[in-house]
Amino acid sequence: MTVKLYDRDHYLREFDAEVVSVEGDTVELYQTAFYAEAGGQAGDTGTLNGARVVDTRFDGGRIVHIMKLPPVFRQGDRVHGIIDWDRRYRIMKLHTASHIMEYYLWMHLGYAQRTGSFVDERKDRADYMYEERLDQEKLRRVEEDTNRFLSEGHPVTIQVDDDGIRHWSCGPVEMHCAGTHVMDTREIGAIKLKRKNPGRGVERVETSLAE
Ligand SMILES: [Zn+2]
Repeated sequence: MTVKLYDRDHYLREFDAEVVSVEGDTVELYQTAFYAEAGGQAGDTGTLNGARVVDTRFDGGRIVHIMKLPPVFRQGDRVHGIIDWDRRYRIMKLHTASHIMEYYLWMHLGYAQRTGSFVDERKDRADYMYEERLDQEKLRRVEEDTNRFLSEGHPVTIQVDDDGIRHWSCGPVEMHCAGTHVMDTREIGAIKLKRKNPGRGVERVETSLAE
């Protein structure tokens, strides 16, 4: 089991770690600040001793760093990791914003099950089982309420229970989530929402940063 430094500090950008194994272009470290793709959040990119990490994934309980090229370092070496912070910080903002968006989406358009989601540095995509297409006027209200809430500067709280389940909360919004988030909604700025229809009975809400 790789030690997840990002669980302790979502803002950790650099770290040192011992290399546990190198297999071709994949590297396992004793500990890492690179977020491994899970729960609909993209894996981190960055560098290990200056060599490019193009993705980070789970392989069972291990986290593996996918390198652009097979690395020169070996098992037992110590490496210095740096994550692509601008990219990760955008993901943290979008991920946090999408939780708030969902709260107001359900308030204005009624509850619908979320069937999938994915967030990277460009946008958050969340799919819901709505029978009818989302009303644009109501979606505009979701956007307005989300932006008002974000600008109010609500703190994010994460509590880990005895089973290791991570409880995320911010104001009235609560859920189980193991992703990385900003700690105050004011860091996010404003967001924009867009509706897509990826399939019958499925409505997608895309959240992007307004900039
Ligand atoms: Zn989350």
